[in-house]
Amino acid sequence: MTIADNRQPNESEAQAALAAVVPQGWSRVVLKMSGEALGGSKAGETISGDTVERIANEVASCRSRFGTELAIVVGGGNIWRGTTGTGAGLDRATSDYMGMLATVINSLALQNAIERIGQPTRVLTAIEMAEIAEPYIRRRAIRHLEKGRVVIFAAGMGNPYFTTDTSAALRAAEIEAQVILKGTHSGVDGVYSADPLKDSKAVRFEDISFSEVIQKDLRAMDMTAITFCMDNQIPILVFDVMTPGNIIKAISRQTIGTLIK
Ligand code: UDP
Repeated sequence: MTIADNRQPNESEAQAALAAVVPQGWSRVVLKMSGEALGGSKAGETISGDTVERIANEVASCRSRFGTELAIVVGGGNIWRGTTGTGAGLDRATSDYMGMLATVINSLALQNAIERIGQPTRVLTAIEMAEIAEPYIRRRAIRHLEKGRVVIFAAGMGNPYFTTDTSAALRAAEIEAQVILKGTHSGVDGVYSADPLKDSKAVRFEDISFSEVIQKDLRAMDMTAITFCMDNQIPILVFDVMTPGNIIKAISRQTIGTLIK
């Protein structure tokens, strides 16, 4: 249709015109962030209000602009990791349960920030704590997504000896997400041929196969999660979640980071 036309566009023309101006986002994603991504620049700031608010704004904006069904898995590493406790003499399983509880704290912080800007959310926990969140039930998670709620998966998988990377992979398979968006917080904005913080000749891959990541032991994500995603054909986009605007870029499928497929 051109400007010279004076008739009203029909429905398919209107949709095509809209698609030309609004970038097409993924339709259903799992966004994985480390707990440390919620921390602030000030020493000892476990959860930064400014950072959480910025992430919440980007998440809510993606929901409204692209209609993306969004599930979030946030780690607990800013508060506690299983390895923190084993170093201090705790047994591994107990320490891992403490780590899973840390993810619940982060999930509630994110939920609160996202809801403050009017975007409905649900926190679903793998360890029951009915007073503060719903138990994880796969079909309910999917229903929440279909109703436009942002779903936050807390308490990992509920099993010790795993990480939240693997939880994100499992949940992505269960809800049939198109992709896992793995946000990094260490300043490394994708998968590199070598550690870019140590080797100035390291180059970032725009995309890379699962088998190459495994063969070269490129530590983009927990290896259990990588092999799970390979077996279940779930691509992973590794990108820097700390740069403002990057969640929007990742969800709207702009070229960013590294796609492992
Ligand atoms: N964890 C676990 N099972 C799970 C998910 C997490 O035992 O299914 C524990 C584990 O101890 C882990 C901690 O929770 O170290 C926090 O998660 P993670 O280390 O993945 O957090 P992140 O590094 O992403 O902040």
